[in-house]
Amino acid sequence: MRLVVDLNRCQGYAQCAFLAPDVFTMHGDEALLYNPHADRTQREQVMRAATACPVQAILVDDLGDTADAAEEDGVREGLSGVR
Ligand code: SF4
Repeated sequence: MRLVVDLNRCQGYAQCAFLAPDVFTMHGDEALLYNPHADRTQREQVMRAATACPVQAILVDDLGDTADAAEEDGVREGLSGVR
């Protein structure tokens, strides 16, 4: 799965770092670091973080992403996307 954080929109509320600490990390008070190619095993956490973000700054794309799915385990699943 791929994810992007719109850093112009992100206000550093850290909800994502709390809900998906393996993917999102706060660096200092406001800088957000994240893994744009989170593993599918982290999908639930990432979806919770995306839903909880107060400014909807986290965009997740795991629909039709055959390259990432193939990279991860060679199995293609029908996954739904949440924005
Ligand atoms: S929850 Fe949203 S606003 Fe807060 S740090 Fe994460 S991406 Fe930024």
